[in-house]
Amino acid sequence: MNSPVKIPETICLIQPFTRPDRLQDWPQTPQMHSGHLADSNRGWRTQYPEVLADACIACNLCFLFCPDAAIYNNEQGIPQIIDDWCKGCGICAVECPKNAIVMTHAVTTGESDE
Ligand code: SF4
Ligand code: SF4
Repeated sequence: MNSPVKIPETICLIQPFTRPDRLQDWPQTPQMHSGHLADSNRGWRTQYPEVLADACIACNLCFLFCPDAAIYNNEQGIPQIIDDWCKGCGICAVECPKNAIVMTHAVTTGESDE
């Protein structure tokens, strides 16, 4: 079973948000901690992505395609899944050119039953 990923504080840039006029001025990382709109996406997913680090070429496509900003890259450029935000849609696995992400049928990844 996957372990929940700790989100580095550095990728959660909580700061006042002003809608930028130009596309290039939009932020490239999540701007809110999970819980801004909903507590979590994970409660209703039926699959969870598992990253096969040995097959990954650190191309960043999964990061770019994830619709929920549920992926960040570690210092080696290997994607890490953010447990709270992943809804299990599988887009990252489809877009990966190296089949380095596989969807497992694990419904949960360490969350409590609260
Ligand atoms: S399964 Fe969907 S939500 Fe989860 S990391 Fe992949 S693309 Fe993002
Ligand atoms: S799309 Fe696949 S190869 Fe590219 S960074 Fe993501 S897991 Fe690695």
